[in-house]
Amino acid sequence: CGIVGIVGRTPVAPLIVDALKRLEYRGYDSAGVATVENGQLDRRRAEGKLVNLEERLRSQPLGGFVGIGHTRWATHGVPNETNAHPHFSQDVAVVHNGIIENFAELREELSAEGFVFASQTDTEVVAHLVARELRRGLRPQDAAFAALRRLQGAFALAILFRGDEDLIIGARNGPPLAVGHGNGEMYLGSDAIALAPFTDSITYLDDGDWVAVRRSGVEIFDMEGRRVERQRQQSVGTS
Ligand code: GLU
Repeated sequence: CGIVGIVGRTPVAPLIVDALKRLEYRGYDSAGVATVENGQLDRRRAEGKLVNLEERLRSQPLGGFVGIGHTRWATHGVPNETNAHPHFSQDVAVVHNGIIENFAELREELSAEGFVFASQTDTEVVAHLVARELRRGLRPQDAAFAALRRLQGAFALAILFRGDEDLIIGARNGPPLAVGHGNGEMYLGSDAIALAPFTDSITYLDDGDWVAVRRSGVEIFDMEGRRVERQRQQSVGTS
């Protein structure tokens, strides 16, 4: 299972799929990618191998210079296209590795407020939590932070927003997540190997860190919302 995100300068969907291939060694049962193009969120997902997702993208290409991708190892909900990530709620797309331990309680709370669940995953609560905060008037970065504070369990997350083509929020609590520094482009990935074709300048997030990734740079925060500094390192060239 793996996560990739790119805030780029060219269409990112093909690049995301290539990076996901480098994470295939971790095992997975389905895959998907979402981008923002002309302000709108769109996604392609497929059960099974990445070739199936590529097939889907060939017949229905996905434009957009910002996007997130995922290979899923199902823990909650069978491996099928409906349960494949990215999961959507209104203006939000989410990919997730790990398990949201308190998803049942959050699902109940959000359902009671009228949020409709499309999948059987634990992940989908994250999308609806962020959407709820946006609806309350928070801007994307603050909405993501407010949602993250509600989550218990193990997660690496990447969050994408309708109407914002210069932002991906990443978060880590357990499964690894790394930022890749490019030149006018920035990356998120489960490990340096996934990002090796793009950059060897890597910052690993610590547990409890979350990050706002933009073309101009990244800002890393802790769960109190304080800015933190994490070392940037040169990963061994594995491309
Ligand atoms: N728990 C999530 C799901 O079942 C994420 C699984 C993963 O780590 O890929 O969809």
